Amino acid sequence: MPDLEARAAEVNARLKKRYPDAKCALDFTNAFELLIATILSAQSTDARVNIVTKSLFRKYPGPKEFANADIVAMETDVKQTGFFRNKAKAVINCSKAIMEKHGGEVPRTMDELTALPGVGRKTANVVLGNAFSINVGIVVDTHVGRVSGRLGLTENADPVKIEEDLMALVPRKEWTIFAHRLIFHGRQTCDARKPRCEECVVSDLCPSAQLATASPASPASSRGRSARSATPSSKTPRQSRTSKSPRGRTRNTSE
Ligand code: SF4
Repeated sequence: MPDLEARAAEVNARLKKRYPDAKCALDFTNAFELLIATILSAQSTDARVNIVTKSLFRKYPGPKEFANADIVAMETDVKQTGFFRNKAKAVINCSKAIMEKHGGEVPRTMDELTALPGVGRKTANVVLGNAFSINVGIVVDTHVGRVSGRLGLTENADPVKIEEDLMALVPRKEWTIFAHRLIFHGRQTCDARKPRCEECVVSDLCPSAQLATASPASPASSRGRSARSATPSSKTPRQSRTSKSPRGRTRNTSE
């Protein structure tokens, strides 16, 4: 574990230098806007959500207006983000709960946030870390899961377990920004299909880069779970791209 902690610290330091502007990519001016934007970001892109919320927050300036919104109108307003029926219901019900149980203020604890309709641990972590600067956990999205797996910082596929692994390796005050650095790295360098290992600032620390070098015909493993000890696995990258899901089903972890 100490070796792994040291590697995580070095990864964090280098990514800090590489992505000095890493931050939340969703546009927001307060905690409520970030909460709504994060709910809408599921299965969508931050850029798309930012386009939608620009007019959405003008039409519905706060939780009261969202809570009183017409569901059909809201479905139309959030349609571009995908899964619009579920999302429209979620943002309205979430806003109603904020009005009824929290006096119109977004709560500041994990338990209270995750009790809101449509709010899971990832969304709560985004709001707590970025709107309130409270480090309760680490956001694990598709980029954080993939990059931390390839780097050998976790062997897990379940986001909750990945989060626990990372929380044990990274100092608490860095939890929110560490996730942003991994997300920036996932978007700009450690691409899901074609990781650019040759230009990666942490390639010498990454067991998946070693695997890619050993087998140039295949890309770096999607997660690199077998490489947590930094010892290259005998598995080929392609073999290591499947993993057991939390429910025991085998799933392809490549995006
Ligand atoms: S070396 Fe390759 S697989 Fe490892 S983090 Fe960098 S880009 Fe991703």
